[in-house]
Amino acid sequence: MITFYPGPSKIYPQVEQYLQDAYRSGILSMNHRSQGFMDVLKETMRLMREKLAIPADYSIYLVSSATEAWEIVAQSLTQQHSAHHYNGAFGKKWFSYATHIVPQTSGSLFPINQTLPYHLFQEGEERAAFNRQRLSDYEVLCLTHSETSNGTQIRMQELAEIRSLTPALIAIDATSSMGGVAFDWTLGDVWFASVQKCFGLPAGMGIMVCSPNALEKARQVNDILRYNSLLFVHENFEKYQTHYTPNTLGVYLLMRVMEQLEPIAAIDQRTVERAAHFYQFLENETSWEPLVTNNATRSDTVIAVKGEPQAIAALKKEATLAGITLGNGYGEWKNNTFRIANFPAIEDEEIEQLRSFLRK
Ligand SMILES: *Cc1c(COP(=O)(O)O)cnc(C)c1O
Repeated sequence: MITFYPGPSKIYPQVEQYLQDAYRSGILSMNHRSQGFMDVLKETMRLMREKLAIPADYSIYLVSSATEAWEIVAQSLTQQHSAHHYNGAFGKKWFSYATHIVPQTSGSLFPINQTLPYHLFQEGEERAAFNRQRLSDYEVLCLTHSETSNGTQIRMQELAEIRSLTPALIAIDATSSMGGVAFDWTLGDVWFASVQKCFGLPAGMGIMVCSPNALEKARQVNDILRYNSLLFVHENFEKYQTHYTPNTLGVYLLMRVMEQLEPIAAIDQRTVERAAHFYQFLENETSWEPLVTNNATRSDTVIAVKGEPQAIAALKKEATLAGITLGNGYGEWKNNTFRIANFPAIEDEEIEQLRSFLRK
């Protein structure tokens, strides 16, 4: 079976060997405050910084999931007001969680074929002025880099435009893009993801990358009430330890996958090219249409394909018979889309098989 599910998704085949290596290395029985564990964690963080080109002054933490990161942002970095601009189910869920934690939240839904700056600044002068004003008042601005539910993405150049207009901390859910495309990390203060998407690993761990400003803000907020308060997490990671007994197997596997990976610039190039070809292919060689029609808002890592619900149900059945798992639609687009992960662990040859299946 080939899977194009956008999470949990195809894991790297090398993981089979790494699992055995993990067992044999003895790491799985080690105490998480032991030197042996700390060495593995230290090496994992070093490799992540190197391969993903994370700036030296940004800190890296491992948590349990992206969902946990949503809560950490709300608990540890937001005192008064978080603002959420979203166009799909994951951004909306984050907003909804934040409303239970943060005193004031504002949410703004934008269309999938509109870029965020267009939505914020050009959509009618009155509205735009209002949005600019609001933007300057925000404390934390929460954005979803690749909205896995509908296959949209915010481009770095758009983030740069937004960054220049707000003093707010910018927190970015990059769950289905980190590890697949390159970021200008300096355009965000908190970036987070989970390992079961672009990292090609089994589910069960989240990654957070924080700017010095995010850490400064955490010190001001001084949230020390929770096991996963960012300050507490930080204190532990400074010693290459964790704030709870960690997913040691997950950490080890992440280290090994990081060893094997090419630098993110090379991965980025491949992901972006493959996505562009796939969108062209859909439009020119099949009867299917990408859900997102604006090139500027299309995700490079998750491709949503639109069709009649009946045709999609039939296609998914046929695909299963052909040994191919397509991703189901999600949220609002559950029945009239299917999704294709364009994650690095998926091989060109597998994409080629998918193409010949869809050509029929
Ligand atoms: C998958 C996903 C999540 C949730 O990840 P968990 O690991 O289940 O917490 C959050 N945001 C986005 C954009 C996702 O794709």
